[in-house]
Amino acid sequence: FKARPWQIKEVDSVCGYCGNGCTLTLGVLNDRVETIRFNDKTGVNDGNLCIRGRFGYSYVNSEERLKKPLLRKDGQLVEVEWPEAIEAVAKGFETARSQGGLGIISGARLTNEELYLLKNLSKVAGTANLDHSGGECYKGVTEGLKATLGLTSSTATFPQVENCDVILAIRSDFYETHPVFGMVVNQAVKRHEAQLLVVADKKGKFGKLPHAKTLLSRPGHEVSVLNGMAQVLLSEGLAVTEGVQGLDELKASLAQFTPEAVAASTGVDAESIRQAARKLAGAKKSAILLAYGLPYTANSRELGIAAANLAILSGNAGKDGCGLYLCGEKANSQGAIDLGILPGKEGLGASAMLEAATAGKLSALYVVGEDLLGAYPDRDRVAKALTAVPFLVVQDLFLSATAAQADVVLPAASFAEKDGTFTNAERRIQKLHTAIPSPGEAKTDLAIFSMLASRLGSTLSYTGPGAVFAELAAVTPGYAGINYNTIGPQGVVWGGEILAPAFKKVVPVSGAAVAAGTFQFITGSALYHSGTVSTRAQGPNAVVSEAYLELGREDAAALKVSEGDLVTVKGNGVELRLKAKVDTRLPKGVVFAPYHFAEAGINRLYKGEAAVAVEVQK
Ligand code: SF4
Repeated sequence: FKARPWQIKEVDSVCGYCGNGCTLTLGVLNDRVETIRFNDKTGVNDGNLCIRGRFGYSYVNSEERLKKPLLRKDGQLVEVEWPEAIEAVAKGFETARSQGGLGIISGARLTNEELYLLKNLSKVAGTANLDHSGGECYKGVTEGLKATLGLTSSTATFPQVENCDVILAIRSDFYETHPVFGMVVNQAVKRHEAQLLVVADKKGKFGKLPHAKTLLSRPGHEVSVLNGMAQVLLSEGLAVTEGVQGLDELKASLAQFTPEAVAASTGVDAESIRQAARKLAGAKKSAILLAYGLPYTANSRELGIAAANLAILSGNAGKDGCGLYLCGEKANSQGAIDLGILPGKEGLGASAMLEAATAGKLSALYVVGEDLLGAYPDRDRVAKALTAVPFLVVQDLFLSATAAQADVVLPAASFAEKDGTFTNAERRIQKLHTAIPSPGEAKTDLAIFSMLASRLGSTLSYTGPGAVFAELAAVTPGYAGINYNTIGPQGVVWGGEILAPAFKKVVPVSGAAVAAGTFQFITGSALYHSGTVSTRAQGPNAVVSEAYLELGREDAAALKVSEGDLVTVKGNGVELRLKAKVDTRLPKGVVFAPYHFAEAGINRLYKGEAAVAVEVQK
């Protein structure tokens, strides 16, 4: 690519990948995004972008983008005009209404305005079966926080972490899931000598920061480590208990989580658990960081509760300069939670919809902005549901594996082709701006939902995202009074910099049940996100181009496996052949594979557990 700077049109927007919500500037030439650069004067990222944001945009220009609606005729998907596609979808939804019902599963990369219209559309279509991606995980974590603190979001903004003297990061290597937030933690550690404590099942780059201490737990048992820390706070009289409800019940449930008992089940030594709890209690300001998303499904409610219990007992919850951070996987995960893209009272969540479809109890499924086959755990379960459901509609950028099975495929716009807002993991509402037109006849999800709603009889009509935002702000807790037109380059943090908990109620805890085996297989992110768009972008592909199975050196040596060898991994009735990657971050007996690269079948092996017992052979 060659162009003079003055030939490039620059448009400010927000990264479409993760819940960090970095602002960036798209450079446009001939209706293509040709460059991305940072703007160090705006947004949360202070001029930083990670590889996904900086180099992961080329999927937007891909020749493989869907350009026209597709309708299945005589078994083949053929291009049709929009009116024919909309009519087919509307008829399918109407039939579903009188039969087994319609299910709607949305991704969390839609804007707030689009998600709001989708919710309205679900009402017009007469279904309460509405969920957003990663249903179970999001549901688990938010249920946990709701029960303890009465909220479902982070309590503070990112910059406050920089002034914390103790930071506890749970399960995720934030350098991989939310890298720019990881940089803020880096600043806290390097500039202010903050103590970083990491509770995780593998060592990560995060844990290599100066003075960082990783409490390396057996996979799936991280929640017990947190419970052990809470037990120490209470038994050593370090806990802040004023105004805290539920203490007696919590104390009783924590009796089984003495540091020695936790050490036996998790592999983390008892003294490290004690030290970590004392450090958290002794901090003037502390932060607890929890990431959530599709690969973090197991024990999500328990993790939410255990993290919030610690936030309360350490005096962190709601205190100025402290924070509990809930970091969603996708660009608008927080918006989807705020807007309540969840099943209605009688409705089914994403998992239950798939089960109902397999059992012949769902007549139609509408999947928006998500490749269920590519990204969801237990690919075989998803495949069965998609085969069984009589009518499948997929709205997306590409003919994904899920879209290829659909009866109707609707071509959608990317983040670079729309106006609207995302809410990031610190509750910051930020504006996207249209930089390029969509390819062919692809349309924004907002336009597609409007067409469908009007065909199904809705009389509501909107002049654009601003009008939709005005309506959603009036009914979304925390959003009242925010005006779309006055959301500037820094965005607006709903609820303010510090969100006070509605109450402080510690909740009894449990541990985790994890199948034992010679090897424990775990999954997660490796630079990419779910991979549904990032694997189509040259930047991330250049760094991690194919699936692999990572083993620790000791295990690799015992199996006589070297870097690049093909290995067989067997578990959950699935057998995969993957290239070996030998590293030092995994404890003995633990193997890891990133959950992107759907074709490698990792999400066939991983069915949502914290860890899968597997066999590994050369
Ligand atoms: Fe985009 Fe997240 Fe990377 Fe920021 S940290 S550039 S939001 S992927």
